[in-house]
Amino acid sequence: MSLREFGELENMPTVTLSSGYEMPVIGLGLWRLEKNELKDTILNAIKLGYRHFDCAAHYKTEADVGEALAEAFKTGLVKREELFITTKIWNSDHGYVVEACKNSLKKLRLDYLDLYLVHYPLPTRHNAIGQTASLLGKDKVLDIDVTIPLQQTWEGMERTVSLGLVRSIGLSNYDLFLTRDCLAYSKIKPAVSQFETHPYFQRNSLVKFCLKHGVLPTAHTPLGGAAANKDMFGSISPLDDPDLNDVAKKYGKSVAQICLRWGIQRKTAVIPKSSKIQRMKENLEVLEFQLSHEDMEVINSIDRKCRTSLPSKTWGLDVYA
Ligand code: NDP
Repeated sequence: MSLREFGELENMPTVTLSSGYEMPVIGLGLWRLEKNELKDTILNAIKLGYRHFDCAAHYKTEADVGEALAEAFKTGLVKREELFITTKIWNSDHGYVVEACKNSLKKLRLDYLDLYLVHYPLPTRHNAIGQTASLLGKDKVLDIDVTIPLQQTWEGMERTVSLGLVRSIGLSNYDLFLTRDCLAYSKIKPAVSQFETHPYFQRNSLVKFCLKHGVLPTAHTPLGGAAANKDMFGSISPLDDPDLNDVAKKYGKSVAQICLRWGIQRKTAVIPKSSKIQRMKENLEVLEFQLSHEDMEVINSIDRKCRTSLPSKTWGLDVYA
């Protein structure tokens, strides 16, 4: 099965990755979930039908995720092999990929990861494994490590696969040039590339390039971060867009559902975050309707080429400049 043909696996459509493993097209994003809400959120999400969870060492909640997963397995809610768990290596651990991976596995209480991603193509000064610091220099600017080539990071990622710690490996926040470079030097190709994309930041060239080369594009921030990015970064939100609101009214759906359905129909996986049961349910129900070609075109026409997730605001420099 190719990336273009979404298959069915127990009601949740999946994509077969270049590694041969299946990835559910909708996952639950876990960034900015509070520690005390994680367990209930994950258990409720599994009950609703979520089978794919997107974690990162940097979210500092892997241990809480691990506790929730252990309970889900113990109570028979779901089996390990029915879940797809992603986590990411942070910038400060590029020189210690295998150790960082083992540290994440320990916290998550798992013996393998379904997907391990390089969180950013940006090695920074190391502190301690899993500390995920973004240390600034005396100049108050992120202390970027210029001694580690990304090829070396990728070789570490490949080692996690050969050691049986990880099933699939991939990229995050890589642009087209860096993705191409990784395709050239990799022995194990990146199965997934996770990057920000939504109706206000469509990135058609990167999506097209990834699909053409067998790398599944996964939309992080698929709702443009909605209220969370407005609050945290002062971003604009596609959920306020008048054209999207018109399309939503026409289908009797929410604007968030239109964004997610558009993402799936353009062959990207989507990993919206919500801590609210009603919204988690709503975000899964996008599997139940289809946007017409004309309405896909309406959404294609509203791109503002506008990034809404701007964590580097605290790094003293714009990493996308
Ligand atoms: P999203 O685009 O998923 O938006 C999340 C926001 O939307 C929250 O405020 C949430 O609020 C709200 N929301 C969720 N569902 C609905 C709905 N149906 N209607 C209205 N509002 C809704 O942004 P994220 O930044 O969370 O991105 C998603 C995931 O992508 C992250 O959690 C993370 O896993 C990953 N990510 C990865 C990055 C990377 O560098 N690789 C960077 C950023 C994100 P509420 O919770 O109150 O419902």
